[in-house]
This record gives sequence, C-alpha cells and structure tokens, in this order.
Amino acid sequence: MNFDNNIDLMNSLANDIKTCKLCQLSNFRKNAVPGEGGFKKKLMIIGEAPGYYEDQVGRPFIGAAGKILRNILKKYYINEDDVFITNIVKCRPPNNRQPKKEEKDLCIRYLETQIELLQPRLICILGNIASSYILGLKSLTGERGKIIQKRNKNYFITYHPAATIYNRELFSTFENDIKKLGEIINNN
Ligand code: URA
Repeated sequence: MNFDNNIDLMNSLANDIKTCKLCQLSNFRKNAVPGEGGFKKKLMIIGEAPGYYEDQVGRPFIGAAGKILRNILKKYYINEDDVFITNIVKCRPPNNRQPKKEEKDLCIRYLETQIELLQPRLICILGNIASSYILGLKSLTGERGKIIQKRNKNYFITYHPAATIYNRELFSTFENDIKKLGEIINNN
C-alpha cells in the first residue's frame, strides 16, 4: 500500500481486521478483506461486503462487480494508486446474504478508523446498503451523482456495480456518475 501518512497504523489496522473475531462472520471466512489501493487523490470508495472471490484472496472488488468497477474507474482516469477501496463489513457473509445490523455495528469501527487515518477528501459510497447505513439515506434517488456534505465529510453516492449486472439500464447512469467522480478528483 502507498499512503502519505499513517502507513504503519493502516497496516496494523489491516492485521487487526484479518484476525478479528468480533462477530460470527469470522467463523465462515477464508480471508478478511481490509481494503486496498493507494491514496494519491485522497479518494475512498466503500462497498457493502466481500463476496466469494474477495474472500478467497482477501482483496476487495475482484469478482464480477469488481471488474465493472475497476474498468470504469480506469476509463475515467481513477487509478489504483489514487483510491482506497474497502467495504462496510470486512468479512464475507455466508452465501452473499446482506450483512446483518449487528455485523455492521461491530465492524464499522474499522471503517471509521480507516477514515480517521486516511482523511479522505471524498468518500464514494456504492449502493443502497452502504449509503443507508453510513448516511441514513432511504433511497439513492435525488442523492446520487452529486457531492453531499455531512458531519464535515464529503460524500458522493452512486449505484453498486452489482446492481448494473441485474439491471443493465442502470449502467449508463453509473458510468456517468463515475465520470463525474473522475472529473471532481482530477480537477481539484
Ligand atoms: N461487493 C462489495 O460490496 N464489495 C466487494 O468487495 C465485492 C463485491
């Protein structure tokens, strides 16, 4: 990893996450997934929880949804060195079910510490589950594709890339949002 500050603290936090036993998800995991990337543009992207492939190797967003995300980021000049990618919940829920409230409540301390250590300029939240948990949003309508300021932080919300697999019509909006994100990150 490649951060200007706090690299040791980020690495030690990643070790805490990898050995965490706070919730039952630790019994099912092959690997916890702390997050990865650089931080040149001080951008953070937050998804929901690791899936099968992420659990196999301990890296976020490397399955089908991850390929969509990573391709579109690259297309709009957001490189792996620019962005730290992580999730609300760091271990895969069995059968890719949604993480339970108690799992999110126990795991959120890690994301909060990552945010504290990295001090992102912009936090991009992917999808309903993550945006409702972090920002209390009931729906993405009217909220996605623009910067929202809350509690002294800047957030940018868009669809989860997995949603574009199930509903192809969402893809062009998702792509447009990431294009906007690239413009914000690269022009400021
Ligand atoms: N979906 C997520 O929300 N996170 C991942 O890491 C992979 C798929």
